[in-house]
Amino acid sequence: MPTAKPWTIDDSERLYNLEGWGLKYFGINDRGHATMQLARAPEGAIDVMDVVDDVAARGIKMPVLIRFQDILRRRVALLNETFAAAIEEHGYRGRFYGVYPIKVNQLREVVEEIADAGRPFQYGLEAGSKGELLAVLAMNPSDALTIVNGYKDESMMRLAALGLKLGRRLVVVVEKLSELDLLLKATKAEGVKPLIGVRVKLQTQGSGKWRSSTGHFAKFGLTTPEILGLVERLKAEGLEDCLKLIHFHIGSQVCDIRTLKDAVKEGARYYAKLRKLGLGLEYLDCGGGLGVDYDGTHTAAESSMNYSLREYVSDVVYSVQEVCKAEKVPEPNLVTESGRSVVAHHALLVVNVFGSIEAGASPVELGVKADEHQVVGELRESLKGLTPKNLAESFHDGQQHLEEAFSLFKLGYLGLEDKAKVEHLYWRLCLEIGKLLPKAKFVSEDLLEMQKALNDQYLCNFSLFQSLPDSWAIGQLFPIMPLHRLNEEPARRASLVDITCDSDGKITNFACHRAAGGTLPVHALDGRPYYLGFFLMGAYQATMGDIHNLFGRVNEVHVFQDAEESKGYYIEETIQGQAIRDVLSDIQYSDYELVKMIKETADAQVKAGALKPREAAELVDRYEAVLGEYTYVDHLPSPDENHPRRRASDLAAVTAPPPAPEPAKGETVPQAS
Ligand SMILES: *Cc1c(COP(=O)(O)O)cnc(C)c1O
Repeated sequence: MPTAKPWTIDDSERLYNLEGWGLKYFGINDRGHATMQLARAPEGAIDVMDVVDDVAARGIKMPVLIRFQDILRRRVALLNETFAAAIEEHGYRGRFYGVYPIKVNQLREVVEEIADAGRPFQYGLEAGSKGELLAVLAMNPSDALTIVNGYKDESMMRLAALGLKLGRRLVVVVEKLSELDLLLKATKAEGVKPLIGVRVKLQTQGSGKWRSSTGHFAKFGLTTPEILGLVERLKAEGLEDCLKLIHFHIGSQVCDIRTLKDAVKEGARYYAKLRKLGLGLEYLDCGGGLGVDYDGTHTAAESSMNYSLREYVSDVVYSVQEVCKAEKVPEPNLVTESGRSVVAHHALLVVNVFGSIEAGASPVELGVKADEHQVVGELRESLKGLTPKNLAESFHDGQQHLEEAFSLFKLGYLGLEDKAKVEHLYWRLCLEIGKLLPKAKFVSEDLLEMQKALNDQYLCNFSLFQSLPDSWAIGQLFPIMPLHRLNEEPARRASLVDITCDSDGKITNFACHRAAGGTLPVHALDGRPYYLGFFLMGAYQATMGDIHNLFGRVNEVHVFQDAEESKGYYIEETIQGQAIRDVLSDIQYSDYELVKMIKETADAQVKAGALKPREAAELVDRYEAVLGEYTYVDHLPSPDENHPRRRASDLAAVTAPPPAPEPAKGETVPQAS
């Protein structure tokens, strides 16, 4: 069938809404491959499939997380430069001292890169726990701010005092009045003056998923009476000049700019009023919340945001300035703790699709037979008589036959072969109805539901629980797009399922193409490796993921752009994902003990004469070898998968075998036996 217009990469760009979420960091090249670039300059773009091939050639297995360190650096610079520009533009008389909250991505290499890229801007780090503080104290450049949030015990306060003694500009943000005593005690003992911050409980309601992080019932922060209590206490100690910072945080992924503006205005009032009470305030810390447009719709939907980075920054600067002008107080230095917006874009998870579950596929021929049960013939009649006018009626007939067959089977009146025919014919009926639906005048709810079930499920080599915990836990959307074949029309629609045994391990909600009933447009599998990219994975996913079903941390490569290199990049570092023995050891299995137990069992078999000693040794070796393997599916296309999986509806159409595909670079295709 000739198509009107050949599919182009522009069509793919539109379909997957690259403009919407890619912030111009991602594109598609003439080969139909996804690319990464910092500016819209195609000549400097990295072909993501080059990286994927490179990774395979190094023997690194899928799934692999690619970190584009240049994006990370760019995000840090962009945040700082945008603040500097807005400060200049508004004639604002404070400076920007941003901090990166490491809880958003604590990986040392990520934090190191951020600290390094932030050095020219005196960009600092934030810690919310003792562990994070230990990391931050060591890693933070000394002229930048160190901010300590979260609940703190005596030992954490002593650690903070230690940081002050080391010369860090370390502000401890008091989240509970009782923390003040601990802080004062620790700093006195160390002989240093504290830099104190206070978190205020704003009344402004957040927006988006974390709106409950604010308001009177929030988990964090001091109420106004408590703040006055803190002031009294500081005055009594003669330490009013030690209160340096006002902090608020209205939750992550704030999707509506009005909420952010309201919060900044409220926070700025606290700053101004306290400043007038004679406290030595120098900083206003607006917390995190700066969003990421995961679904690319630029709306106030939960996975989106209705503003840009520039708008946010400009609103912060302008709103604080307005309040300070009205209150006649000096403009404070501005601090933000944006995490998500800095790290989300740099990480891309590459996942190989290794198969599909297709509705109605039958690997055996199920032709008409004389002695088949009547119900089979009836279903066949429904299928034959199908027209665009009787879709609902035929569907209901089909359902009835299916149920009838089920009852017959339970009572023992239907054989396996007839049961197979009924199931197969029913699916064919549904598939044919699905094809005719666009021609129908009226489509009922149940037919629409049925149509959803007709879509393919693509089996993807990853664990949702390890790599996309927020997709499972809070239904967050991530942009997903094939990394190649983007110059071909993605003719199929599929939901994605992972390799855990958990039926929650699936994705049926996609940022692009929302109307399509929980499916992603994908290409038909042709036996060659097929790769999907899960984009914007850099924030919160890494340490929130778990080892459900014992799928562990994935392999990582860190990529840098480099015009000198033949492919325009180099891989700076690879970090091995967890081996099976590593995840087992997380849950208290020692590989040594496991091997010992297997060896004892094998020895017993030798004693009993069931195994020869050499066989026993070989079994133990094999067991041990698997302990060292990667936790994910190690899959190469096998000969009988080198053709498209047959669909029931295609059965009649398959006459000649399809051409043999060429093996992909870096992969060996096993010999046909
Ligand atoms: C989590 C957190 C942040 C980071 O928020 P983002 O929305 O990721 O920018 C900042 N500050 C505090 C206190 C936090 O708890």
